[in-house]
Amino acid sequence: MVTRQDCITLDQQDALAACRDKFALPEGEIYLDGNSLGAMPRHLPARMQEVMVKEWGNGLIRSWNDANWIDLPKRVAGQVARLIGAGKDEVMVADSTSVNLYKALVAAVRLNPARKVILSERGNFPTDLYIAQGVAEIFNLEIRYVDSTPEPVLAGLDDSVAVVMLTHVNYRTGQIYPMQEITAKAHAVGALALWDLAHSAGAVEVDLNAAKADMAVGCGYKYLNGGPGAPAFVFVAERHHKDMRQPLSGWHGHVRPFEFVLGYEPAPGIESMQCGTPPLLSMLSLESALEIFDGVEMSALRKKSVALTELFIKLVDEKLSPYKFGLASPRDSAVRGSQVSLTHEQGYAIVQALIARGITGDFRMPNILRFGFTPLYVSFANVYDTAQAIAEIMESGEWNQDKFLTKKAVT
Ligand SMILES: *Cc1c(COP(=O)(O)O)cnc(C)c1O
Repeated sequence: MVTRQDCITLDQQDALAACRDKFALPEGEIYLDGNSLGAMPRHLPARMQEVMVKEWGNGLIRSWNDANWIDLPKRVAGQVARLIGAGKDEVMVADSTSVNLYKALVAAVRLNPARKVILSERGNFPTDLYIAQGVAEIFNLEIRYVDSTPEPVLAGLDDSVAVVMLTHVNYRTGQIYPMQEITAKAHAVGALALWDLAHSAGAVEVDLNAAKADMAVGCGYKYLNGGPGAPAFVFVAERHHKDMRQPLSGWHGHVRPFEFVLGYEPAPGIESMQCGTPPLLSMLSLESALEIFDGVEMSALRKKSVALTELFIKLVDEKLSPYKFGLASPRDSAVRGSQVSLTHEQGYAIVQALIARGITGDFRMPNILRFGFTPLYVSFANVYDTAQAIAEIMESGEWNQDKFLTKKAVT
């Protein structure tokens, strides 16, 4: 049996333990929802105060030059590139994940105009599939939905497919799709591969160029901790830059945005993936938040992430076996991201009872309790206390109260 003391010992040996102090988590908070909204870096309020007062308040429009706002998307993209195995000139930070998906997906189908199919899996994140539906309507394409494991995806790849669009780590189960294998099969049948890294960037090791990925998008406010609604990123492999054409032809993607000429002419590289003026404050927040990753190797983060999720599954096996929980995540850590999802018919109420105890995970329909283990700020003792709290909530029937059973707007 794993004891709490064992977990405290693991924390003492943890090379990343000091990172936790870089976040302003409330005293006693156990935060297992960094996969939905990352925690706030401790230094950010001071940085944002400086941005507001100095750069905006005093610098006014001059800050576009004096504070280098104009280069900001490119700068932040450089910080993200290292985390996802991309070249600095292959990434742009802009817009939201949904909007970037739209731009990238249209660019992909335009690169493969003879093909009629977008391939994805049924269990993909809804916005990804909704965006695909919108693109399919405009370009008169078909969406081929396959079951949510790698085998049907591989089997669904044939010479009718223009692009396969997948989320690398499934948001519901945490299953990792084999990026290299699926991309290779896509290329073998003449399709492109577009990866959503919303649950990967900053949490699992990603090497887009080693996998020869064509395009990718990802989220700034989850494991990258950029703040609520922080801008997202988009990757396009350099080999496609010459021919790609994204649909949102706004002035920030123009080759000479400040010449105010008649007629759109896209910038030659990844710059053309921009559209309009970026949300500067949010992007400055993301830039500052990403500094926490300086000097942190993704391999070390991944190692701790695996240790945290392995420990949680072990504790679930030890403490929760009488209570009819299922494991929705893979048992094999090699194909599991930085989360563990359990199933239980009272999942919603159990998550609410945990939140009332200061332990925040979340619930996903129909019966999934989702726990994200952000390696930068979750401790091994946090994992122990969570499993122990679930056992107590089940043992006492604490979950079975009206206030926990009534659903709120955001789960
Ligand atoms: C969180 C998430 C998104 C979010 O998209 P937004 O445009 O930021 O709302 C998209 N895709 C996946 C897979 C996600 O997990």
